[in-house]
Amino acid sequence: MKRVYNFSAGPGVLPEAVLQEAAAEMLDYQNNGMSVMEMSHRSAMFQKILDDAQNDLRTLMNIPSNYKVLFLQGGATTQFSMIPMNLLKNGVADYIVTGAWAKKAAKEAKKFGKINIVASSEDKNFSYIPDVSDLLLSDDADYLHMCDNNTIYGTKFKKLPNAKGHILVTDISSSILSEEIDVTKFGLLYAGAQKNVGPAGTTIVIIREDLVRTDLPENMPVMMRYDIHVEKGSMYNTPPTYGIYLCGKVFKWLLNLGGIKAIQKINEEKAALLYDYLDQSQLFKGTVEKESRSLMNVSFKTNNPEIDAKFIAQAKENNIVNIKGHRSTGGMRASMYNAMPIDGVKALVAFMEKFEKENI
Ligand SMILES: *Cc1c(COP(=O)(O)O)cnc(C)c1O
Repeated sequence: MKRVYNFSAGPGVLPEAVLQEAAAEMLDYQNNGMSVMEMSHRSAMFQKILDDAQNDLRTLMNIPSNYKVLFLQGGATTQFSMIPMNLLKNGVADYIVTGAWAKKAAKEAKKFGKINIVASSEDKNFSYIPDVSDLLLSDDADYLHMCDNNTIYGTKFKKLPNAKGHILVTDISSSILSEEIDVTKFGLLYAGAQKNVGPAGTTIVIIREDLVRTDLPENMPVMMRYDIHVEKGSMYNTPPTYGIYLCGKVFKWLLNLGGIKAIQKINEEKAALLYDYLDQSQLFKGTVEKESRSLMNVSFKTNNPEIDAKFIAQAKENNIVNIKGHRSTGGMRASMYNAMPIDGVKALVAFMEKFEKENI
């Protein structure tokens, strides 16, 4: 069997132990004679899988009881629509645009209300996090939206914006479970699972109870209503059962490791290995401002796109795959999600050192 070091930005690497467990249970889950994929979502066995996943996520993220946890479908992108559809009351919201995903979120929200861009880093191709300590927010804004970790560029908010009493709504698709976060600072958090949690197809929404409105327009599609999903416990229709099962296994894997505090420490170690190397390299350089660096996605390049291409090709021959940067940034990007072992980062840095010697 071949396994590579997969630095993909998403769908990303999953813990090998989790994949092995899932493989062992593939044909017969807990002596029930069928795969989780074949099981009724209304069965007691699946209900336990869902309940355990939710409870373990609550434990990991220290989610207070006045927040609802939903396992939905449609990816983070569907949340770009659901959020304004459910949260706009005055019809006004403020958005911080720190990357392509945040920009898409704002663009979608514009279909539903008056959207103000209150900060942006687009002037320098999203290579930094703007100052958000004293934003000019709209008095009547129903919420302030931000994207915590900008997957494509490799930037991350180190301090939350001063929301000045407005509800903070945050896309945590590529930073969920990577470091400690105070859920009580947010009205709504959401993430597609395929970056740092599980397979594509499951979307996690954590919403403060009082934001789950029931006074919504009659003609609003039922699948877009948080209140219905809350009322039905994420089972208005068939939920992404196998995805939830795998997410649940990842939660247990994290709990066994020691929770978010423990994985954060490992993530900091991994990031330091790569950033420290980049900071002294004569060939490679990081592409974002140091103060804005992400733990999860590390972007770098040489000063020559041909050398970049050669590096990417040779890395692949050495089982280091999916490190090509996004088409909008060029260069390289190493995504080092929770499941990327520290040995993978060590292998990457060792390969970079070797490549540097040969190409400088
Ligand atoms: C990948 C990503 C998205 C899009 O997620 P989908 O689940 O594909 O809709 C949105 N936001 C961020 C920060 C992402 O990394």
